[in-house]
Amino acid sequence: MRRAVFQFVSLVIAVASLSFISARIWGGKPEGISTENALVFNETMTVAEFGRANNLQPRFLKEVFALESQADRLKPVTAFKMDVEQLLKKTEQVLAIQAEQGSKNWVKILVKFLSWAAFLALIFVLMRRGRITAGNRKRLLLASAGVFGVILGSDPSPMGTVKDAIVLLGAKGVIFPPRLIAFLVFVAMVVLANKFICSWGCQLGTLQDAIFRLNRDSRDRKGLLRQYKVPFIVSNTVRALFFVALTAAAFIWSTDIVEQIDPFKIFKPQVLGMAGVAFVGLILGLSLFIYRPWCHFFCPFGLIGWLAEKVSIYKVQVDYDKCVSCEACVKACPSTVMGAILKRDRVIPDCFSCGTCMEVCPEGAIGFKSGRRALPPPGKFGHDVAGKTGT
Ligand code: SF4
Ligand code: SF4
Repeated sequence: MRRAVFQFVSLVIAVASLSFISARIWGGKPEGISTENALVFNETMTVAEFGRANNLQPRFLKEVFALESQADRLKPVTAFKMDVEQLLKKTEQVLAIQAEQGSKNWVKILVKFLSWAAFLALIFVLMRRGRITAGNRKRLLLASAGVFGVILGSDPSPMGTVKDAIVLLGAKGVIFPPRLIAFLVFVAMVVLANKFICSWGCQLGTLQDAIFRLNRDSRDRKGLLRQYKVPFIVSNTVRALFFVALTAAAFIWSTDIVEQIDPFKIFKPQVLGMAGVAFVGLILGLSLFIYRPWCHFFCPFGLIGWLAEKVSIYKVQVDYDKCVSCEACVKACPSTVMGAILKRDRVIPDCFSCGTCMEVCPEGAIGFKSGRRALPPPGKFGHDVAGKTGT
């Protein structure tokens, strides 16, 4: 038990301090979105003066005024068929896109997506072959958090694609196309193999998962200190309400309610304020006792990923001809998923494709396979509930 606490503290300090260094090496791109409004405008300005005053790059200036020639830049801003309100709104939107483009480290983003593809392909092969074990699971989770978080930073992340998209749309009324593409790629990863980007690619998800496994016995079956499985109805209700609050705050007050407490900033600790430090500490501390608390209670991508995994192609599946109803998988599963599957519940919680259930099954009855999940035969687990459907 003392070993688990010592490892936890050492891990968090190592992640924060190494991330601090790594973020400095990558340079000063802000990476987050900007929701500031400080346009400079007066009716005597020329187009060129308006562009300079607001730091609008030439191509974005051209877009705002639909300029046709260089000479158009010398015309007064009032010479175009736009009222002031329209002009300011359009400029604000274009500035938001310009800020987004300028804030990204595109080399890092490319490296990260290529690394994700390679790493997730490796994990997929290991899952298919049933080679994720107590011995290598923790190492693979730590490797993921180390590469995709410590080395490659807090941005991009699956959570960021949803949260930032909502905030930008709510505050400025614009969609940043590269973020939309990234979001669709993440959802595709969820659909191809059950929640794979969350399971093995998300820097914060894998860090929480690794911390949870620090507090488990050497066979990764139960907690050293007691671990809790929160009923899914509770965690998912909180998560849905948080999603509504995030959206409402963005659209009504142009505010990002996650910004101050964003736990992904553990990978960029220099921008964490006091509230952020407290919240990150809480989430990571809770991770010792509850499986992936941020994912289950708050993450906007977690919610969308949970819906998307209903149509995932590859997922854990039980062969009920081999299953001897010992429920070892239910006990070892870090959350309530396997219990819900075996009890034929209508709502199946998030499965993070961790492979724990596959490893502990004494009959080798659980695999990572394509196709629809079969329902357990009625009565096999003491619940004859014919008529329920699986996902
Ligand atoms: S649900 Fe968890 S793993 Fe998935 S994006 Fe959110 S934080 Fe990452
Ligand atoms: S059912 Fe549970 S133990 Fe099995 S892969 Fe999903 S989360 Fe892991």
